[in-house]
Amino acid sequence: MIDRIYRSTVLGVAGRKPIEQLVRTRAWGVAQRFVAGEESSTAIAAVQELAQDGILGNLDLLGEFVSSPETANTFAEQVLALQTQAAAAGIRPYVSVKLSSVGQGQTVEGADLGLTNARRIVGQAKRLGGFVCLDMEDHPRVDQTLEQFRVLVNEFGHDTVGTVLQSYLYRSEADRASLDDLQPNLRIVKGAYLEPASVAMPDKADVDASYRRLVYAHLKAGNYTNVASHDESIIQDVKHFVLAHGIPKTQFEFQMLYGIRRDLQRELAQQGYTVRAYIPYGRDWYAYFSRRIAERPANVMFVLRGMLKG
Ligand SMILES: Cc1cc2nc3c(=O)[nH]c(=O)nc-3n(C[C@H](O)[C@H](O)[C@H](O)COP(=O)(O)OP(=O)(O)OC[C@H]3O[C@@H](n4cnc5c(N)ncnc54)[C@H](O)[C@@H]3O)c2cc1C
Repeated sequence: MIDRIYRSTVLGVAGRKPIEQLVRTRAWGVAQRFVAGEESSTAIAAVQELAQDGILGNLDLLGEFVSSPETANTFAEQVLALQTQAAAAGIRPYVSVKLSSVGQGQTVEGADLGLTNARRIVGQAKRLGGFVCLDMEDHPRVDQTLEQFRVLVNEFGHDTVGTVLQSYLYRSEADRASLDDLQPNLRIVKGAYLEPASVAMPDKADVDASYRRLVYAHLKAGNYTNVASHDESIIQDVKHFVLAHGIPKTQFEFQMLYGIRRDLQRELAQQGYTVRAYIPYGRDWYAYFSRRIAERPANVMFVLRGMLKG
């Protein structure tokens, strides 16, 4: 409950325009702890650097809730260019995409633009041997995202496209079971948005318990599972679970965010687990950065100190 109050306060303050302007101009230095620059070249360099520690990358061009078809198409073009650049640099083009940033919810020529653009991006991933994960956004988008995910898996296969379930949503366990026929590649996260108690569990202990249930059920069903968390006790429990159930290391990976628990990322990679860092970049970093700050009280002090230093 306290976590929720803290998160809602930080996101509420961060949503005010004057605060956004102040943070955008004064906190870019601090934001770079979580964001790998503004250009695709710096993000690709970050993947190459992480590779030296045996850590894989998941590139994410930042942007969300795009309101015009032109902007959505431009965004999709940038993601397509990113995939090509990554492949040219010798990196498997593994990217994450928020469907709202490529036009989800906007109808163009009778079709949902988000799905049209996602088809182009997932189609290119298939040609390049890459992968696309459809990020999960706030709860009003879950139904459409899961429907579009189903369409894309049917067209391109579960080795090319995956999506995300958030353990704070009451519905996620039922959603997971309903996707089983696709043998889907799923990333399990706790959830980063400010959601009402009518749809999301307000208590952290419940979110954590739901997280474990989702991961265990997905692994037991034989599906590829991305355990996306920095929570050490969850990571330990997953390690024990896979040992106890004879689940091979090739059926799951640990995922963490760029700039968070790099020590743990390295340690897991050294232990022979697949580890992938989610590497966000781009000019539209503010909303992503606000969510990272809202996850941890110590981060507010980190930002304020950084801003005072200039
Ligand atoms: C690879 C990846 C992809 C994600 N994709 C999505 C998505 O598509 N949709 C979505 O809603 N959410 C997404 N998230 C965010 C996720 O929902 C959580 O908000 C976030 O991961 C924090 O939860 P946690 O599991 O690390 O556990 P927590 O219990 O929040 O944190 C556990 C520990 O991790 C460390 N930690 C966590 N967050 C921070 C931080 N911001 N700064 C510093 N330390 C921190 C702290 O040591 C903390 O004690 C993603 C997370 C990851 C790792």
